[in-house]
Order: sequence, then structure tokens, then C-alpha cells
Amino acid sequence: MLPRSFQYFAPGSVEDAVRFLGEHRGEAKVVAGGMSLIPLMKLRLASPSYVVDINGIRGLGDVAESQDRRSLVLGALTRHHTVETSPLVKRRAPLLAEAAGMIGDPQVRNMGTIGGALAHSDPSGDLGAVMLALRGSVTAAGRGGEREIPIDSFLVDTFTTALEEDELVTRVAVPASAGGTEGGAYLKLERKVGDFATVGVAVQLRIEGGLCTYAGVGLTAVGPKSLRAGRAEALLVGKRVTKEAILEASAAAAAECSPSDDPLRGSASYKREMVGVFARRALELAAGRAKG
Ligand SMILES: Cc1cc2nc3c(=O)[nH]c(=O)nc-3n(C[C@H](O)[C@H](O)[C@H](O)COP(=O)(O)OP(=O)(O)OC[C@H]3O[C@@H](n4cnc5c(N)ncnc54)[C@H](O)[C@@H]3O)c2cc1C
Repeated sequence: MLPRSFQYFAPGSVEDAVRFLGEHRGEAKVVAGGMSLIPLMKLRLASPSYVVDINGIRGLGDVAESQDRRSLVLGALTRHHTVETSPLVKRRAPLLAEAAGMIGDPQVRNMGTIGGALAHSDPSGDLGAVMLALRGSVTAAGRGGEREIPIDSFLVDTFTTALEEDELVTRVAVPASAGGTEGGAYLKLERKVGDFATVGVAVQLRIEGGLCTYAGVGLTAVGPKSLRAGRAEALLVGKRVTKEAILEASAAAAAECSPSDDPLRGSASYKREMVGVFARRALELAAGRAKG
């Protein structure tokens, strides 16, 4: 199918984009990689009157450490392929790089962007769970200036975020890994290579002096949005990451997700079972990596 006709606007700056979005509130849609928006428009599930192409705005694809080197900051237009292959991302946010490499296929990874993926808030998208595990944040520019939104507040519901209609995601930040004591893992169950997740589990751990001092666990495709497995995290912090602790935490993750039956990827009970299995494996892998 062809999309309904629309007017195309290619702003040269964030300010121009935000102004245009404000002038056409509710009628305009930002396009970044177009990997989700264009199919929706072709199916006529979205029919914006204006499409705001932000690909010409300079600097939105930059990846850098923050000044204090505690965070890794990725411009909203950073492509999944860059996240997957950038030496800086691999070193300072290896969990993000690992997950980006599992998104779709090479074509999708060459076009799709981190800002677009998060703004889309697809519960089956891989990066939401990773952002939750890392406790990252999204910065949005609006007419009143910029605001930084923690990922837990940013992801509101299925295809719904905390973004206002005239706001643009400009960058995404995650705490930079110190290496050594930190380890993460993203594991994804998929029907075939390139498919969306049946379930996905993102884990980030810090283990110091034998004790877990940080645990982040995010879940993909088992709820209305990417979910934080808060009970699983709480069960790990302050403890030794033993086989028993891992089993207890993975059972908690399985208990706190809310999957639904679907004819393509299986029943809710199957997915819940798989969350338990994949959480255990991801925790084992992350703990091994944290211990070097
Ligand atoms: C065949 C296929 C397979 C895929 N498989 C996977 C997969 O396995 N895992 C996965 O996670 N994803 C998958 N995706 C989705 C892919 O990751 C997309 O790249 C992503 O969902 C959207 O990113 P985008 O840059 O293409 O956004 P777009 O399609 O351009 O936009 C998506 C939405 O976000 C909004 N938006 C985009 N950028 C901004 C911004 N900077 N500020 C405000 N709003 C913005 C748009 O208005 C739109 O509503 C797949 C897509 C396809 C087509």
C-alpha cells in the first residue's frame, strides 16, 4: 500500500524542528530511520499531514563520553549499526552494543536509530530493556528548552512515551561501564534470525568484593512496554551472586512479567517460562563477565 499524501519538511536545526512540531501539533511526525514509521504509513496505521525528516540536522549522530567520563552519550540519530560496532560503545556500554547487534537485519540496523527505537516504545523493541538495565536517560528538546527523562519515566506504555507532541529526542545517555567489576548480557529468544523477540532479557551487574552492588534487569516483549524486573534486582543487590541467588532472581523475573498469548510466538505461560530460563542464563553470563 502507499501512504496518504503528506508534506515533507527537512529542518536544518533542532530549533527549527521543534518550532515546526509546535506549529503543527498532532499533525506532524518525526522520521529518523523510517524503519517503523514508513511501514506504519504504508499500512495507513499512521497518516501524518507533515513528515519532519531530522536526518539533515548536524551532530545528532555523534557518540561521545560526557565531560566527566561517567556517561556515554549517543545522539538520537545514532544508527543501530554504529551502536553495534563503535569501539567506544563496545568499551563503555558493551551491553548496548551487544543488543544493537541483535536488532532486525543489516538493512534495519543500517537505517534504524537509537532515538527512533526508544521514541517508538515498541514493547518488542530490544533497546528499552537494555536502557532499563543500565538506568539510562533520554534528553528531549522542546520549545521550553531541554529536559532529561529517566528511561523508567520515558517509556509510558505500548507505543507511548513521555514525549510531548512538539518534543524531539536529541540524545540518549547511559552510565559508562567502569569495566572490571561490571558485566552485562542481552539474550533474545527469536523464531529466526532477524525476528522481533519472543522474549528478551537484559542484565547489568556490578560485583565488588564478592557482593553484588548494582543489578539492572530489563525484559523485552513480555508486557505492554519494556519492563523492569525490580524484584529480581532487589533480590541480587547486597548478596553474593551464587547459583541459588541467580535461580531466585530469575524466578522473580518470570513471576513479575506480564506476557500475552500470541499465535506467532507462543502462549503467555511459554513466554513466562522462557523469561525464567533466559534470565538465569543472562545473569550467569553477566556475573561471569563482571568477575572478568
Ligand atoms: C523488518 C524489521 C525488523 C525489525 N526488527 C527489530 C528487532 O528485532 N528489534 C528491535 O528493537 N527493533 C526492530 N525493528 C525496529 C527498528 O529497530 C527501528 O529502527 C526502530 O523501531 C525505529 O527507529 P527508526 O529510527 O527507524 O524510527 P522511525 O521509524 O523513523 O520513527 C519511529 C517513531 O519514533 C518517532 N521518532 C523517531 N525519531 C525521533 C526523535 N529523534 N524524536 C522524537 N520522535 C522520534 C517517529 O515519529 C515515529 O513515531 C525492526 C524493523 C523492521 C522494519
